Amino acid sequence: MQEQEISSILRVGDLDFPKRKVWMKTYGCQMNYHDTERVLSHLKELNFEKTESQEEADLLLFNTCAIRDLANQKFYSHLGNTKKLRDVKIGVGGCIAQTDSKELLDKYKHLNFAFGTDAIDNIKEMVYRAYMGDDKFAVTSWDKSENYSIETKMTHGSPQAFVNIIKGCDKFCSYCIVPFTRGREKSRRQQEIVDDVKKLVEYSGIQEVTLLGQNVNSYGKDNNESLASLILDLEKINGLEIIRYTTSHPYDVSDELIAVHGSSKKLANHLHLPVQSGSNTVLQRMLRQYSVEHYLGLLEKLRKANPEIVISTDIIAGFPNETQEEHEDTLKLLDLAQYDFIYSYNFSARPGTKAARMQDILTDEIRGRRLREIQAKQLLIQEKMRKNIVGKTIRLLVEGKSSFKGETKWKGRSSCFRIIHFKPENNEANYQWHWVDVKVISATALSCQAELLFDHGHKISPIQ
Ligand code: SF4
Repeated sequence: MQEQEISSILRVGDLDFPKRKVWMKTYGCQMNYHDTERVLSHLKELNFEKTESQEEADLLLFNTCAIRDLANQKFYSHLGNTKKLRDVKIGVGGCIAQTDSKELLDKYKHLNFAFGTDAIDNIKEMVYRAYMGDDKFAVTSWDKSENYSIETKMTHGSPQAFVNIIKGCDKFCSYCIVPFTRGREKSRRQQEIVDDVKKLVEYSGIQEVTLLGQNVNSYGKDNNESLASLILDLEKINGLEIIRYTTSHPYDVSDELIAVHGSSKKLANHLHLPVQSGSNTVLQRMLRQYSVEHYLGLLEKLRKANPEIVISTDIIAGFPNETQEEHEDTLKLLDLAQYDFIYSYNFSARPGTKAARMQDILTDEIRGRRLREIQAKQLLIQEKMRKNIVGKTIRLLVEGKSSFKGETKWKGRSSCFRIIHFKPENNEANYQWHWVDVKVISATALSCQAELLFDHGHKISPIQ
């Protein structure tokens, strides 16, 4: 597309693009939030700026998620409500658009276009087509190119960036829709990612990166590269302070990667490692490809390599036909694994998956009770884990502040992913995106309070 700026109007191809506003709603995981960031960044080039208000928007976009039933329902009700809006273009992208674009366009007559998960980077062309007056259309084809190649796009001014390194998933867990909505695994080349992150550090002031993928630690298998070697390369970048990665699969936690958790100075002291169930028979029905014993062995090796590491997980309560004994195995696992926090959910069947076709005898009431038991037990463990950090000095990257009952506190995130609150030295002090050292003074299962020891400013001082 030929672009030419004429005062506040941008000429693109045969169309004028005056300044317009885009409102975009995101559902689901970090990958989706990151895709939204990419879409908004592309649309800047068509003269769009972001708005939080649907009423003042010229273009409404939805980035959908097919993993959780609740997110799904919210999206459909939200989309239905936009029917009354006039003089707007509306597009739906993401996982639901990938699998159900035809149904969406048939059912919601006011919808202009739908785009799948591989079409994110074609958003400018799609918006252009919508403004050209093209009839309703869907772009859901898969990217057939051999390598996955992109450049990270950012629209925010924070020092934290999400960097996609692999897309898709080859695991086909029996409850998961991702392999159908995101396709097969495809990795970016290691050198491309290193160059990308170097640019982010040098030109956008990025100090913390989170490497993203649905099955992130499977990274590089298609190119004879690996996550461990990528992290070691990224670690050499001056000015980059913290490296995180998510989401991992226990099957792909290699010894090489565990060793990097021990040796790297920049890799975060945190790993989110979804276990999903503490029962081997449930894990088999989930097609997870590991046993509880293997999983616990990984935690032992990780903690041996890095005694500071903090582990978190995902758990599904009430997988189809889960027995009381299988559920109790999950409660036992919580004791053995000692997680710092968990994301836990009731099983919800996703159409098109193997689990959705299983005959299931469990009721919502049983599922709800089991989920509450899991969460109550975890809170007890969490409280004990968090109390262990009272008295310790911890470095934070400050993410913002909040006020409660007239008192303002700032909050930052530690390398081990905990959010810690502290009082400012005075009410005028501004710590946004500063590095600070704090001493933890109290902790409960859900909050940590600290006192400020040292403010490094925007860069970590070599001498404290
Ligand atoms: S590894 Fe994760 S993304 Fe892949 S199928 Fe399993 S749950 Fe889904």
